[in-house]
Amino acid sequence: MWGAVKRAVFEAKARLFMRADRRALAQMLQDERQTAADAAALAAARSAELALHAFRTTAFYREHYTSAGFSEADVAQPENFVALPALTKPMLQDAGDALISSTSEARDRLPSRTGGSTGRPLLVYNDRTAPTAALWWRVYSWWGVHPADDAAFIYRQSRTGAKKLRYDAEWWPTRHILLDARGATADTIAAFDREMARVRPRLLVGYVEGVAEYAAHVAEQGGALRGLAAISVTASMLHPGQRARIESALGAPVFDTYRSAEVPWIAAECDAHDGLHVLSDRRRVDIVDDDGFPAPAGEVGTVLVSDFDNRVFPLVRYAIGDRTAVLPGACACGRTLARIAPIDGRIADVLRTPSGRTVSGGLGGLFNAWPGVVRQFQVHQAADYRVSIRYVVGSDAAAAAQAAQSVCRTVAGFLANEVEVVAAAVTAVDGTGGKARLVISEAAT
Ligand SMILES: [Zn+2]
Repeated sequence: MWGAVKRAVFEAKARLFMRADRRALAQMLQDERQTAADAAALAAARSAELALHAFRTTAFYREHYTSAGFSEADVAQPENFVALPALTKPMLQDAGDALISSTSEARDRLPSRTGGSTGRPLLVYNDRTAPTAALWWRVYSWWGVHPADDAAFIYRQSRTGAKKLRYDAEWWPTRHILLDARGATADTIAAFDREMARVRPRLLVGYVEGVAEYAAHVAEQGGALRGLAAISVTASMLHPGQRARIESALGAPVFDTYRSAEVPWIAAECDAHDGLHVLSDRRRVDIVDDDGFPAPAGEVGTVLVSDFDNRVFPLVRYAIGDRTAVLPGACACGRTLARIAPIDGRIADVLRTPSGRTVSGGLGGLFNAWPGVVRQFQVHQAADYRVSIRYVVGSDAAAAAQAAQSVCRTVAGFLANEVEVVAAAVTAVDGTGGKARLVISEAAT
Protein backbone atom coordinates (compact mmCIF):
# COMPACT_ATOMS: atom_id res chain seq x y z
CA MET A 1 0.00 0.00 0.00
CA TRP A 2 2.77 2.41 1.03
CA GLY A 3 4.50 1.54 -2.28
CA ALA A 4 1.40 2.69 -4.20
CA VAL A 5 1.44 6.01 -2.30
CA LYS A 6 5.10 6.55 -3.23
CA ARG A 7 4.33 5.88 -6.87
CA ALA A 8 1.38 8.31 -6.80
CA VAL A 9 3.49 11.07 -5.19
CA PHE A 10 6.18 10.54 -7.80
CA GLU A 11 3.69 10.65 -10.69
CA ALA A 12 2.26 13.91 -9.36
CA LYS A 13 5.72 15.48 -9.06
CA ALA A 14 6.70 14.24 -12.54
CA ARG A 15 3.52 15.69 -14.05
CA LEU A 16 4.43 19.06 -12.58
CA PHE A 17 8.19 19.22 -13.03
CA MET A 18 9.25 16.59 -15.56
CA ARG A 19 6.79 16.93 -18.40
CA ALA A 20 9.41 16.60 -21.15
CA ASP A 21 10.76 13.38 -19.61
CA ARG A 22 7.23 11.94 -19.30
CA ARG A 23 6.58 12.67 -22.97
CA ALA A 24 9.95 11.19 -23.95
CA LEU A 25 9.24 8.02 -21.95
CA ALA A 26 5.90 7.48 -23.71
CA GLN A 27 7.64 7.93 -27.08
CA MET A 28 10.45 5.51 -26.11
CA LEU A 29 8.04 2.77 -24.99
CA GLN A 30 6.31 3.12 -28.35
CA ASP A 31 9.53 3.24 -30.41
CA GLU A 32 11.03 0.11 -28.82
CA ARG A 33 8.10 -1.91 -30.22
CA GLN A 34 8.19 -0.58 -33.80
CA THR A 35 9.15 -2.92 -36.66
CA ALA A 36 12.84 -3.64 -37.18
CA ALA A 37 12.71 -1.80 -40.53
CA ASP A 38 11.18 1.31 -38.94
CA ALA A 39 13.74 1.16 -36.12
CA ALA A 40 16.60 1.00 -38.64
CA ALA A 41 15.16 3.93 -40.64
CA LEU A 42 14.79 6.03 -37.47
CA ALA A 43 18.38 5.28 -36.40
CA ALA A 44 19.74 6.12 -39.87
CA ALA A 45 17.91 9.44 -39.97
CA ARG A 46 18.99 10.42 -36.45
CA SER A 47 22.62 9.42 -37.15
CA ALA A 48 22.89 11.62 -40.24
CA GLU A 49 21.12 14.46 -38.48
CA LEU A 50 23.57 14.26 -35.54
CA ALA A 51 26.64 14.16 -37.81
CA LEU A 52 25.35 17.15 -39.78
CA HIS A 53 24.67 19.09 -36.56
CA ALA A 54 28.23 18.31 -35.39
CA PHE A 55 29.70 19.38 -38.74
CA ARG A 56 27.72 22.62 -38.93
CA THR A 57 28.04 23.82 -35.35
CA THR A 58 31.46 22.71 -34.04
CA ALA A 59 34.96 23.66 -35.14
CA PHE A 60 36.29 20.20 -34.30
CA TYR A 61 34.00 18.07 -36.48
CA ARG A 62 34.13 20.46 -39.44
CA GLU A 63 37.91 20.08 -39.51
CA HIS A 64 37.87 16.35 -38.61
CA TYR A 65 35.46 15.37 -41.39
CA THR A 66 36.76 17.83 -44.00
CA SER A 67 40.33 16.57 -43.61
CA ALA A 68 39.04 13.00 -44.10
CA GLY A 69 37.46 14.12 -47.41
CA PHE A 70 33.82 14.52 -46.35
CA SER A 71 31.89 17.62 -47.46
CA GLU A 72 28.77 18.86 -45.68
CA ALA A 73 26.63 17.14 -48.34
CA ASP A 74 28.51 13.85 -47.76
CA VAL A 75 27.96 14.05 -43.99
CA ALA A 76 24.22 14.56 -44.58
CA GLN A 77 23.97 11.18 -46.37
CA PRO A 78 22.90 8.44 -43.90
CA GLU A 79 24.89 5.76 -45.75
CA ASN A 80 28.15 7.66 -45.16
CA PHE A 81 27.81 7.57 -41.37
CA VAL A 82 29.70 4.29 -40.96
CA ALA A 83 32.64 5.73 -42.92
CA LEU A 84 33.05 8.89 -40.82
CA PRO A 85 36.31 8.91 -38.83
CA ALA A 86 35.98 8.05 -35.15
CA LEU A 87 36.50 10.44 -32.25
CA THR A 88 39.23 9.02 -29.98
CA LYS A 89 39.89 9.87 -26.33
CA PRO A 90 43.22 11.64 -27.07
CA MET A 91 41.40 13.76 -29.70
CA LEU A 92 38.72 14.60 -27.16
CA GLN A 93 41.37 15.51 -24.57
CA ASP A 94 43.15 17.80 -27.03
CA ALA A 95 40.10 19.36 -28.71
CA GLY A 96 38.29 20.33 -25.49
CA ASP A 97 35.90 23.21 -26.09
CA ALA A 98 36.18 22.87 -29.89
CA LEU A 99 33.50 20.21 -29.53
CA ILE A 100 31.00 22.65 -28.01
CA SER A 101 28.14 23.35 -30.39
CA SER A 102 27.87 27.03 -31.34
CA THR A 103 24.08 26.75 -31.03
CA SER A 104 24.21 25.63 -27.38
CA GLU A 105 23.49 27.81 -24.35
CA ALA A 106 25.94 27.70 -21.44
CA ARG A 107 23.12 26.84 -19.02
CA ASP A 108 22.34 23.68 -21.00
CA ARG A 109 25.91 22.35 -20.73
CA LEU A 110 26.37 20.11 -17.69
CA PRO A 111 30.08 19.42 -17.13
CA SER A 112 30.81 15.73 -16.61
CA ARG A 113 34.35 14.81 -15.60
CA THR A 114 35.58 11.26 -15.75
CA GLY A 115 38.64 9.07 -15.69
CA GLY A 116 36.34 6.31 -16.91
CA SER A 117 37.69 2.79 -17.03
CA THR A 118 40.98 3.79 -18.61
CA GLY A 119 42.28 6.44 -16.21
CA ARG A 120 42.33 9.18 -18.84
CA PRO A 121 40.77 12.30 -17.29
CA LEU A 122 38.23 13.90 -19.62
CA LEU A 123 35.85 16.80 -19.47
CA VAL A 124 32.70 16.40 -21.53
CA TYR A 125 29.36 18.17 -21.35
CA ASN A 126 26.03 16.41 -20.98
CA ASP A 127 22.94 18.11 -22.43
CA ARG A 128 20.64 19.43 -19.72
CA THR A 129 17.69 19.29 -22.12
CA ALA A 130 18.19 15.58 -22.93
CA PRO A 131 15.49 13.30 -21.44
CA THR A 132 18.04 11.36 -19.38
CA ALA A 133 15.60 10.60 -16.55
CA ALA A 134 13.26 8.98 -19.07
CA LEU A 135 16.07 6.63 -20.11
CA TRP A 136 16.36 5.05 -16.68
CA TRP A 137 12.60 5.12 -16.06
CA ARG A 138 12.33 3.12 -19.27
CA VAL A 139 15.01 0.59 -18.31
CA TYR A 140 13.53 0.22 -14.80
CA SER A 141 10.16 -0.56 -16.41
CA TRP A 142 11.79 -3.52 -18.20
CA TRP A 143 12.77 -4.84 -14.75
CA GLY A 144 9.38 -4.29 -13.10
CA VAL A 145 10.73 -1.41 -11.02
CA HIS A 146 9.03 2.00 -10.70
CA PRO A 147 11.24 5.12 -10.32
CA ALA A 148 9.52 5.82 -6.98
CA ASP A 149 10.29 2.38 -5.51
CA ASP A 150 12.76 2.31 -2.62
CA ALA A 151 16.26 1.55 -3.84
CA ALA A 152 19.67 0.67 -2.41
CA PHE A 153 23.03 1.62 -3.89
CA ILE A 154 26.54 0.22 -3.52
CA TYR A 155 28.40 3.14 -5.00
CA ARG A 156 30.77 5.92 -4.16
CA GLN A 157 29.38 8.32 -1.56
CA SER A 158 28.54 11.48 -3.48
CA ARG A 159 26.28 13.38 -1.08
CA THR A 160 26.85 14.31 2.53
CA GLY A 161 25.45 16.89 4.96
CA ALA A 162 23.10 19.50 3.52
CA LYS A 163 23.38 18.01 0.04
CA LYS A 164 22.14 14.66 1.33
CA LEU A 165 19.25 16.26 3.26
CA ARG A 166 18.15 18.13 0.14
CA TYR A 167 18.40 14.96 -1.96
CA ASP A 168 16.38 12.95 0.57
CA ALA A 169 13.72 15.70 0.71
CA GLU A 170 13.43 15.77 -3.08
CA TRP A 171 12.89 12.01 -3.17
CA TRP A 172 10.55 11.81 -0.20
CA PRO A 173 8.68 9.54 0.50
CA THR A 174 10.90 7.22 -1.58
CA ARG A 175 13.92 5.99 0.40
CA HIS A 176 17.40 5.51 -1.03
CA ILE A 177 20.04 3.74 1.05
CA LEU A 178 23.75 3.57 0.36
CA LEU A 179 26.80 1.45 1.07
CA ASP A 180 29.94 3.43 0.21
CA ALA A 181 31.91 1.16 -2.13
CA ARG A 182 35.12 3.06 -1.39
CA GLY A 183 36.20 1.48 1.85
CA ALA A 184 33.59 -1.16 2.71
CA THR A 185 34.32 -3.27 5.80
CA ALA A 186 32.57 -6.22 7.46
CA ASP A 187 30.95 -3.69 9.82
CA THR A 188 29.67 -1.27 7.16
CA ILE A 189 28.33 -4.20 5.11
CA ALA A 190 26.50 -5.60 8.18
CA ALA A 191 25.02 -2.14 8.93
CA PHE A 192 23.90 -1.81 5.30
CA ASP A 193 22.26 -5.23 5.51
CA ARG A 194 20.29 -4.17 8.60
CA GLU A 195 19.02 -1.16 6.59
CA MET A 196 18.13 -3.51 3.73
CA ALA A 197 16.11 -5.69 6.11
CA ARG A 198 14.30 -2.63 7.50
CA VAL A 199 13.60 -0.72 4.24
CA ARG A 200 13.22 -3.77 1.92
CA PRO A 201 13.98 -1.85 -1.32
CA ARG A 202 12.79 -3.32 -4.64
CA LEU A 203 16.01 -2.42 -6.45
CA LEU A 204 19.72 -2.78 -5.65
CA VAL A 205 22.17 -0.91 -7.90
CA GLY A 206 25.94 -1.20 -7.63
CA TYR A 207 29.41 -2.03 -8.83
CA VAL A 208 29.71 -5.74 -9.62
CA GLU A 209 32.38 -6.43 -7.00
CA GLY A 210 30.57 -4.49 -4.29
CA VAL A 211 27.30 -6.31 -4.96
CA ALA A 212 29.13 -9.66 -5.03
CA GLU A 213 30.67 -8.90 -1.66
CA TYR A 214 27.32 -7.96 -0.15
CA ALA A 215 25.77 -11.14 -1.59
CA ALA A 216 28.56 -13.19 0.01
CA HIS A 217 27.76 -11.56 3.36
CA VAL A 218 24.04 -12.40 3.03
CA ALA A 219 24.86 -15.99 2.02
CA GLU A 220 27.01 -16.35 5.16
CA GLN A 221 24.10 -15.13 7.28
CA GLY A 222 21.90 -17.87 5.86
CA GLY A 223 20.53 -15.96 2.87
CA ALA A 224 17.43 -14.28 4.35
CA LEU A 225 15.75 -12.66 1.32
CA ARG A 226 15.39 -8.89 1.27
CA GLY A 227 12.32 -8.47 -0.98
CA LEU A 228 14.32 -7.33 -4.02
CA ALA A 229 12.75 -7.37 -7.50
CA ALA A 230 15.91 -6.52 -9.43
CA ILE A 231 19.66 -6.10 -9.04
CA SER A 232 21.41 -3.80 -11.48
CA VAL A 233 25.17 -3.93 -11.93
CA THR A 234 27.48 -1.73 -13.92
CA ALA A 235 31.04 -0.69 -14.66
CA SER A 236 32.76 -4.03 -15.08
CA MET A 237 32.48 -7.56 -16.35
CA LEU A 238 30.01 -9.90 -14.72
CA HIS A 239 31.32 -13.46 -14.63
CA PRO A 240 28.69 -16.22 -15.11
CA GLY A 241 29.45 -17.81 -11.73
CA GLN A 242 29.26 -14.42 -10.06
CA ARG A 243 25.78 -13.75 -11.48
CA ALA A 244 24.48 -17.09 -10.20
CA ARG A 245 25.95 -16.54 -6.72
CA ILE A 246 24.45 -13.02 -6.43
CA GLU A 247 21.02 -14.16 -7.65
CA SER A 248 20.88 -17.13 -5.32
CA ALA A 249 22.02 -15.16 -2.24
CA LEU A 250 19.79 -12.12 -2.83
CA GLY A 251 16.82 -13.86 -4.43
CA ALA A 252 16.37 -11.56 -7.43
CA PRO A 253 17.52 -11.47 -11.06
CA VAL A 254 20.67 -9.54 -12.01
CA PHE A 255 20.44 -7.05 -14.90
CA ASP A 256 23.65 -5.97 -16.60
CA THR A 257 23.86 -2.35 -17.73
CA TYR A 258 26.29 -0.31 -19.86
CA ARG A 259 26.58 3.28 -18.71
CA SER A 260 29.21 6.02 -18.82
CA ALA A 261 29.83 9.60 -17.75
CA GLU A 262 30.17 10.65 -21.40
CA VAL A 263 26.99 8.95 -22.66
CA PRO A 264 24.53 8.12 -19.86
CA TRP A 265 22.61 4.82 -20.23
CA ILE A 266 23.95 3.20 -23.40
CA ALA A 267 22.49 -0.31 -23.06
CA ALA A 268 20.77 -2.59 -20.56
CA GLU A 269 19.47 -6.14 -20.22
CA CYS A 270 15.75 -6.85 -20.45
CA ASP A 271 14.10 -9.76 -18.62
CA ALA A 272 15.09 -12.15 -21.43
CA HIS A 273 18.72 -11.78 -20.17
CA ASP A 274 20.02 -12.40 -23.69
CA GLY A 275 22.49 -9.58 -24.26
CA LEU A 276 22.04 -5.85 -23.64
CA HIS A 277 19.57 -3.74 -25.62
CA VAL A 278 21.21 -0.59 -26.94
CA LEU A 279 18.78 2.29 -26.38
CA SER A 280 19.10 2.56 -30.15
CA ASP A 281 16.36 5.14 -30.68
CA ARG A 282 18.49 7.51 -28.53
CA ARG A 283 22.07 6.22 -28.90
CA ARG A 284 23.93 4.37 -31.58
CA VAL A 285 26.57 1.71 -31.03
CA ASP A 286 28.79 0.74 -33.97
CA ILE A 287 31.26 -2.12 -33.62
CA VAL A 288 34.31 -1.75 -35.85
CA ASP A 289 37.32 -3.94 -36.62
CA ASP A 290 40.95 -2.83 -36.27
CA ASP A 291 40.78 -1.05 -39.64
CA GLY A 292 37.68 0.90 -38.68
CA PHE A 293 35.27 -1.12 -40.83
CA PRO A 294 31.94 -2.38 -39.45
CA ALA A 295 32.47 -5.78 -37.78
CA PRO A 296 30.02 -8.53 -38.79
CA ALA A 297 27.37 -9.49 -36.20
CA GLY A 298 28.83 -11.80 -33.57
CA GLU A 299 32.39 -10.57 -34.02
CA VAL A 300 34.07 -8.64 -31.23
CA GLY A 301 35.36 -5.19 -32.13
CA THR A 302 35.81 -1.66 -30.84
CA VAL A 303 32.72 0.19 -29.57
CA LEU A 304 31.94 3.55 -31.20
CA VAL A 305 29.05 5.28 -29.48
CA SER A 306 26.98 8.23 -30.73
CA ASP A 307 24.50 10.13 -28.56
CA PHE A 308 21.48 11.46 -30.50
CA ASP A 309 20.28 13.43 -27.47
CA ASN A 310 23.40 15.50 -26.77
CA ARG A 311 23.08 18.66 -28.87
CA VAL A 312 25.50 20.80 -26.83
CA PHE A 313 28.66 18.66 -27.08
CA PRO A 314 28.14 16.20 -29.93
CA LEU A 315 29.71 12.77 -29.42
CA VAL A 316 29.75 11.09 -32.81
CA ARG A 317 31.40 7.69 -33.33
CA TYR A 318 33.21 8.12 -30.04
CA ALA A 319 35.71 5.35 -29.20
CA ILE A 320 34.76 5.05 -25.56
CA GLY A 321 37.42 2.41 -24.84
CA ASP A 322 35.34 -0.79 -24.76
CA ARG A 323 34.98 -3.89 -26.87
CA THR A 324 31.99 -6.11 -27.59
CA ALA A 325 29.96 -7.65 -30.45
CA VAL A 326 26.55 -6.98 -31.97
CA LEU A 327 24.17 -9.90 -31.38
CA PRO A 328 22.31 -11.21 -34.43
CA GLY A 329 18.60 -12.07 -34.45
CA ALA A 330 15.61 -10.83 -32.48
CA CYS A 331 15.13 -10.77 -28.71
CA ALA A 332 12.44 -12.95 -27.14
CA CYS A 333 10.98 -9.87 -25.41
CA GLY A 334 9.82 -8.46 -28.76
CA ARG A 335 11.67 -5.15 -28.46
CA THR A 336 13.38 -4.21 -31.71
CA LEU A 337 16.21 -2.26 -30.08
CA ALA A 338 19.64 -3.52 -31.24
CA ARG A 339 21.49 -5.88 -28.90
CA ILE A 340 25.13 -6.22 -27.92
CA ALA A 341 27.02 -8.86 -25.94
CA PRO A 342 28.22 -7.92 -22.43
CA ILE A 343 31.16 -5.52 -22.51
CA ASP A 344 34.40 -7.42 -22.90
CA GLY A 345 37.27 -7.10 -20.48
CA ARG A 346 36.08 -4.27 -18.25
CA ILE A 347 37.82 -5.67 -15.22
CA ALA A 348 36.61 -4.58 -11.82
CA ASP A 349 38.70 -2.00 -10.02
CA VAL A 350 39.24 -3.49 -6.58
CA LEU A 351 41.74 -2.46 -3.91
CA ARG A 352 42.09 -4.35 -0.62
CA THR A 353 43.78 -4.05 2.74
CA PRO A 354 45.22 -6.83 4.92
CA SER A 355 42.28 -6.43 7.36
CA GLY A 356 39.69 -7.05 4.61
CA ARG A 357 38.59 -3.50 3.79
CA THR A 358 37.78 -3.12 0.06
CA VAL A 359 37.36 -0.37 -2.49
CA SER A 360 35.21 -1.90 -5.24
CA GLY A 361 34.86 1.07 -7.59
CA GLY A 362 34.62 4.82 -7.87
CA LEU A 363 38.30 5.47 -8.56
CA GLY A 364 37.85 6.86 -12.07
CA GLY A 365 37.40 10.42 -10.85
CA LEU A 366 40.48 10.67 -8.62
CA PHE A 367 42.00 13.54 -10.62
CA ASN A 368 38.71 15.30 -11.46
CA ALA A 369 39.54 18.25 -9.22
CA TRP A 370 42.63 19.11 -11.31
CA PRO A 371 41.50 19.29 -14.95
CA GLY A 372 44.31 18.79 -17.45
CA VAL A 373 47.15 18.28 -14.98
CA VAL A 374 47.52 14.58 -15.77
CA ARG A 375 46.94 12.94 -19.15
CA GLN A 376 46.45 9.49 -17.76
CA PHE A 377 46.80 7.58 -14.51
CA GLN A 378 46.71 4.07 -13.18
CA VAL A 379 46.43 2.65 -9.68
CA HIS A 380 48.75 -0.29 -8.96
CA GLN A 381 48.46 -2.49 -5.91
CA ALA A 382 51.37 -4.84 -5.28
CA ALA A 383 51.18 -8.29 -3.68
CA ASP A 384 52.24 -6.71 -0.34
CA TYR A 385 49.22 -4.31 -0.62
CA ARG A 386 51.37 -1.20 -1.24
CA VAL A 387 49.65 1.14 -3.71
CA SER A 388 51.30 3.38 -6.29
CA ILE A 389 49.48 6.05 -8.27
CA ARG A 390 51.22 6.18 -11.65
CA TYR A 391 50.49 9.29 -13.68
CA VAL A 392 51.49 10.85 -16.99
CA VAL A 393 52.10 14.61 -16.62
CA GLY A 394 49.76 16.88 -18.56
CA SER A 395 50.44 20.61 -18.76
CA ASP A 396 52.52 21.26 -15.62
CA ALA A 397 54.80 18.76 -13.84
CA ALA A 398 54.78 20.56 -10.48
CA ALA A 399 50.97 20.87 -10.46
CA ALA A 400 50.68 17.20 -11.43
CA ALA A 401 53.00 16.14 -8.58
CA GLN A 402 50.98 18.19 -6.11
CA ALA A 403 47.67 16.75 -7.35
CA ALA A 404 49.13 13.24 -7.17
CA GLN A 405 50.13 13.78 -3.52
CA SER A 406 46.58 14.82 -2.72
CA VAL A 407 45.21 11.78 -4.57
CA CYS A 408 47.57 9.55 -2.54
CA ARG A 409 46.09 10.93 0.69
CA THR A 410 42.55 10.36 -0.60
CA VAL A 411 43.27 6.75 -1.58
CA ALA A 412 45.11 6.10 1.70
CA GLY A 413 41.99 7.38 3.47
CA PHE A 414 39.75 4.93 1.55
CA LEU A 415 42.13 2.21 2.78
CA ALA A 416 42.00 3.52 6.38
CA ASN A 417 45.74 4.32 6.18
CA GLU A 418 46.47 0.61 6.54
CA VAL A 419 48.77 0.55 3.52
CA GLU A 420 51.33 2.89 2.01
CA VAL A 421 50.22 4.89 -1.03
CA VAL A 422 52.89 6.61 -3.16
CA ALA A 423 52.86 8.56 -6.43
CA ALA A 424 55.14 8.02 -9.42
CA ALA A 425 55.36 10.08 -12.60
CA VAL A 426 55.69 7.80 -15.66
CA THR A 427 55.89 8.43 -19.40
CA ALA A 428 53.14 5.91 -20.22
CA VAL A 429 50.87 3.53 -18.34
CA ASP A 430 50.61 -0.18 -19.11
CA GLY A 431 47.90 -1.26 -21.47
CA THR A 432 46.76 -4.65 -22.69
CA GLY A 433 45.32 -4.93 -26.19
CA GLY A 434 45.50 -1.16 -26.60
CA LYS A 435 43.32 -0.59 -23.56
CA ALA A 436 44.81 0.70 -20.33
CA ARG A 437 43.25 -0.48 -17.11
CA LEU A 438 42.44 1.91 -14.30
CA VAL A 439 43.42 -0.49 -11.51
CA ILE A 440 45.95 -3.30 -11.59
CA SER A 441 46.18 -5.35 -8.41
CA GLU A 442 48.43 -8.20 -7.44
CA ALA A 443 47.04 -8.36 -3.89
CA ALA A 444 45.47 -11.69 -2.93
CA THR A 445 41.65 -11.79 -2.93
ZN1 LIG B 1 14.80 -8.08 -24.92
